[in-house]
Amino acid sequence: MLRETFPKVRRVVSPPAARPAGWIDRLEDLAGIPGFEQSGLEPVAARFPLRISPYYLNLIKDAGDPVGRQVIPDCRELEDPVTDPDPLDEEGQSPLPGLVHRYPDRVLLLATDSCAVHCRFCMRKRKVAFGKTDLERVLDYIAAAPAVREVILSGGDPLMLPDRDLERILARLRRMDHVEVIRIHTRIPCVWPERVTESRARLLARFHPLYVMVHFNHPRELTPLARRACSLLAGAGIVLGSQTVLLAGINDDPETLARLLRGLVRMRVRPYYLHQLDRLPGTAHFRVSLSRALDLMAGLRGHISGLAVPQLMIDLPGGGGKIPLLPEYIVERRPDFLRIRNFQGRIFEYPCEE
Ligand SMILES: *Cc1c(COP(=O)(O)O)cnc(C)c1O
Ligand code: SF4
Repeated sequence: MLRETFPKVRRVVSPPAARPAGWIDRLEDLAGIPGFEQSGLEPVAARFPLRISPYYLNLIKDAGDPVGRQVIPDCRELEDPVTDPDPLDEEGQSPLPGLVHRYPDRVLLLATDSCAVHCRFCMRKRKVAFGKTDLERVLDYIAAAPAVREVILSGGDPLMLPDRDLERILARLRRMDHVEVIRIHTRIPCVWPERVTESRARLLARFHPLYVMVHFNHPRELTPLARRACSLLAGAGIVLGSQTVLLAGINDDPETLARLLRGLVRMRVRPYYLHQLDRLPGTAHFRVSLSRALDLMAGLRGHISGLAVPQLMIDLPGGGGKIPLLPEYIVERRPDFLRIRNFQGRIFEYPCEE
């Protein structure tokens, strides 16, 4: 059976640059998954290539479950009327291939285009059009940009890089006095947790202050190995935050979302952003309406620990940036007081001074 053919990668001491053998990148490799139906998927996989790490494959119990749906191609990906591959105009805000400079004091460095899994909802689906990162030029740009206080390594997944490459980038950034904070956006602790080893955590810890934003979308992803990966990072003094993408049928119900967020806090991860899915081609079947997203947020605040409540973020089209949205708590504005709804729906008057 499939699961036995591809044993888990136990421990990767010196991670190879290329993905290890046994990874899933052909539809035929999925044949053993219960509920998987290959017919009609060839054009989908041709347009949006498939990749699943052995570890993540092992979490799939059924093709239609919340883990399987994140990585298994779906015919609906080709039925999406949305066609703009870059609705956030990242290319327009990219001074060099591999660098997005949208905000005054921080840049996004696309350190690699490789990921351990290809998430079917991911914005990096259009990365083929994005050009290859010229790392030396990107680092020179940052070195010459004193306004940049924070560099966010993104991708792709920066933790896919071999240690020596990661170390070279981090060391170079740390030599720049104006770069105060380094942040890494990664899905590795969720989709390939064995790759987070003690030695990698120690390597990262040499470049503090370093923040790591992990990406989990469902409580089933909070496994003992994922917990261990986060624990190694947190143990190295790295502050952990999380990003979650709101996905229809996967985490868009209050109970699942609350379990995920509380589970993250138990893993010493502070939920940071809950992303409204960007309007990217091939992702329509994952979209959640904004009013539903706001209802879900209203179901969190007050009901679960404030530590577990992320901000709901939308990314404005055309490069407007990320904006947090809150459920409407103010029900009426008067000159001398506001009428405010609490988390239970009860109404209170709150005086406002001029
Ligand atoms: C999301 C994003 C950032 C980081 O934004 P924060 O709100 O600081 O997390 C930076 N640059 C770009 C281009 C982004 O999309
Ligand atoms: S790991 Fe991140 S960048 Fe890679 S496909 Fe998934 S969401 Fe996209």
